[in-house]
Amino acid sequence: MAQTLARRELRLETPEIQAAGTIRSQESIGSGISIRNVVKRYGNFVAADRISLDIKPGEFITLLGPSGSGKTTLLNLLAGFQALDEGQILVDGAPIQNVPTHRRGFGMVFQSYALFPNMTVAQNVAFPMRMAKIDRTNTDRRVAETLEMMRLSDHAGKLPSQMSGGQQQRVAIARAIVMRPRVVLMDEPLSALDRRLRESIQIEIRELHQTIGSTILFVTHDQSEALTMSDRIAVMDAGHIVQIAPPAELYRRPQSRFVASFVGESNLIDAQVIGRNGRILTLRTPAGHVFEAESRNGIHNDKATVLVRPERIALHDAPVPGSMSATVTSALFLGEVLRIEVVLDDGQTLLIRCPDIAGRDLPPVGGQLHIGWGAADSWVLS
Ligand code: ATP
Repeated sequence: MAQTLARRELRLETPEIQAAGTIRSQESIGSGISIRNVVKRYGNFVAADRISLDIKPGEFITLLGPSGSGKTTLLNLLAGFQALDEGQILVDGAPIQNVPTHRRGFGMVFQSYALFPNMTVAQNVAFPMRMAKIDRTNTDRRVAETLEMMRLSDHAGKLPSQMSGGQQQRVAIARAIVMRPRVVLMDEPLSALDRRLRESIQIEIRELHQTIGSTILFVTHDQSEALTMSDRIAVMDAGHIVQIAPPAELYRRPQSRFVASFVGESNLIDAQVIGRNGRILTLRTPAGHVFEAESRNGIHNDKATVLVRPERIALHDAPVPGSMSATVTSALFLGEVLRIEVVLDDGQTLLIRCPDIAGRDLPPVGGQLHIGWGAADSWVLS
């Protein structure tokens, strides 16, 4: 990624383009979006159920959720491919419901690359600028900048059929951003690519976002993709946004079992609350193990479900205060981590992931381990 392309260097200075209003200055490029009480029905089925979401100018928001949760529906409403049944969508304070798709000026990238097969890479990327009747000199310059940003300069003269899947998707992204749109909508753009390629393009899109400053709305059902790329993640379930938060907060402090299970691997432990000191609760499992866990303010239940992420569970050679004994039911060497499943005395199973460090061997199945975690390693869900 050409990090050297600072925002101000990307600005098109020519007065005619500025006057045409088709390309905005880079400092203010991203739009603020306000989605208010949006409802979309298909017959009796409610695909978007009174969704509200405020997106800051230049923010990277990911819609994450299982299949059928309404992610694409919400994106389509923003794009103008579908009409709202109720509610409003404002872009920079102006309602857009009555603005047709082609006049919204958003960049869009989909899972299928949808490139023009008979045009070269450069011609594909130049297409939106030609449609906007931007002069040749500025078009050529902007296309060259954009190809460089997407590391495609060496492929400018190729046809899409001469490119790999990952390269074609980078062309589609270049075409979506060549006009430096206020908003870029991306619907599962990386899902057809293999894992390694997906991971490298995720980082490229993230860096690209920091360079051009557009507001990006990105749809995925891949939680690691969402965690890697987003400023905030909106988790969707059955037509609702069930939680919206920055990646680390969503992962560490989910508000429900659904979010805890959907984002990352989780151990969910049911326990009795036996003590309370501010946000730190003391809990007891059915087998009598006592431990502490952090909670948000205002939880006053007697029973609690506690989340402990697999990488937060420590292994001890011998019992230590607060540790529990557990029996190993499976142990796998995965390279950088060991993946160990254990069962506690009360039948509760736990997953542990611990780094592969010197002197640590895979424990035998059926062997005993001593495990534990601190209050800050666990989180009370309810
Ligand atoms: P996926 O990850 O599988 O793409 P999604 O979260 O994007 O799922 P949507 O495509 O938004 O989900 O669909 C939400 C729900 O609305 C689904 O149950 C789907 O079957 C339904 N739906 C979507 N489009 C239509 C349509 N045109 N007519 C009827 N039902 C639809």
